[in-house]
Amino acid sequence: MFYCAQLETESLIFAAGMLLDSARQQIFPAAWLLFSPVRVILLVVWVYFCVYSVLRVEGSNLIPVRHKAKANILALLTGPFFLFVLFVADVTIKLQEGIIRPGNILKGIFGDTFKRRRARYKAEKGIELLDSAGRSFAEVYSSQGRDQKTTSEILSLTESIILDGIRDRASDILLDPKSRSVFTVRFRIDGVLSTVSQMEADKAGTIVNSIKAISNMDIAERRRPQDGSFMARIPEGDVYFRVASAGVLGGEKLSIRILNQSAGLLRLDEIGLSAQSQRLVLDNISRASGMIVVCGPTGSGKTTSLYAMLSEVDFYERNVVTVEDPIEYVLPSASQIEVNVKANITFANALRNILRQDPDVICVGEIRDVETADMALQASQTGHLVLATLHSSSNLAALVRLMDLGVRPLLLASGLDVIISQRLVRRLCEHCKRPAGLTETQIANFERKKIDYRTIMEANGCKRCRGTGFVGRTAIMDVMRLDEDVKANLANERLSLGSMKQRGDKESMSALRKEGLRKVLAGITTIEEVQRVTSKLG
Ligand SMILES: [Zn+2]
Repeated sequence: MFYCAQLETESLIFAAGMLLDSARQQIFPAAWLLFSPVRVILLVVWVYFCVYSVLRVEGSNLIPVRHKAKANILALLTGPFFLFVLFVADVTIKLQEGIIRPGNILKGIFGDTFKRRRARYKAEKGIELLDSAGRSFAEVYSSQGRDQKTTSEILSLTESIILDGIRDRASDILLDPKSRSVFTVRFRIDGVLSTVSQMEADKAGTIVNSIKAISNMDIAERRRPQDGSFMARIPEGDVYFRVASAGVLGGEKLSIRILNQSAGLLRLDEIGLSAQSQRLVLDNISRASGMIVVCGPTGSGKTTSLYAMLSEVDFYERNVVTVEDPIEYVLPSASQIEVNVKANITFANALRNILRQDPDVICVGEIRDVETADMALQASQTGHLVLATLHSSSNLAALVRLMDLGVRPLLLASGLDVIISQRLVRRLCEHCKRPAGLTETQIANFERKKIDYRTIMEANGCKRCRGTGFVGRTAIMDVMRLDEDVKANLANERLSLGSMKQRGDKESMSALRKEGLRKVLAGITTIEEVQRVTSKLG
């Protein structure tokens, strides 16, 4: 009996095994997957569609929430078929409701998809525009009588332009009319302008208006120049903007200066000083009194150098006060005052006030008049360290400029210690720079001067540098210490201002070129860049 049962069980197992084998061969014929790449691809595509249709079910408002779980399983099993049914149902309903018209089905469907994608992009990018009082864009803009839909469309366009500007490290965003019907959007990146996009005048007009609104400017005024400011909150922190508008031929132009606080602060060893100059500057900063002036044309990085020098000051031991126009970076441990001509806060007024508070270090954003210059120079002789910038083409030209303003040479000689002239050159992209192809004349020149030219690089262009070949900038600087000779000359008033400026410009240019060549030979920048920034006096 037992034997019989065992035999029966064995034959049952055997029969079942046979059945399974034949079933396996029918369902999965020999070498089903491994040897047919086409089938593998089809399978992958099928699985992709199955998963995608589940995502569509999740996002679809055609299926009631309580049926979502069942619909998910169905979608996972049937994949593309389910998608098709969903698509037909979607189009039918939209046709019935008149959301899309029969003649324009494709645009209706895909326009909607794009809008959704844009909305999702907006949600991901995370930027919020606020006016200087902290009110949101929607509050400011809808309070001017616009409906919700227009507001949100304009907002998302404006936001994406601003965010692109920040992400591309632009210092300025310029919106200006190219003709009556077309506007260009341009970014200034590393000091060079490039066109990012063009748009219809109507659309650009609404963007201009929206930015003017959030900057608390008068939207109705399109001719008279105006200025304002706003801020943006992004995950990396707050970014501040200065806006200026002006009526031009063909419409109104808008320029937005990005004051990027988080990206802007550099240390002294990062701004491009040579080791020797850095020691000289550090030595002067560590003294209790004295004055350092950074000079150069507009956009030559003077303010960045000023902040870099401030970063070497011990804020806990020394009381630091700054006067700036505008405040470009917030220094948490310093007292910063912003120039506001409307409120009668000028450089001179602010400086007078500051001196009463007896600070240790005074930073003057820019010397523009004799009053400010005199006060700064006097402060530097009465136990204060003064750091300032001045708009001038070279070191000696800075002295001439100060005397032109009306500063007495004797005061200049006793108060001023170091002058730094600077220009900015673009830095080669580390990812794509390549050995430069030099001309025979260039090579002969380098050989005659016994310079090893093999380290010279040139721009190429890749994705990381947006095809420009450059990322960021560095300064080339001419540092001049006012030694006893110069001071004696100044004090004796034996100088002819005209010839001094001329000589100064010549000397400064050759010093800057020499500094530039040092950076070219180090493969940091190109010969053309150095030529570009040292060919004009500024
Ligand atoms: Zn590159």
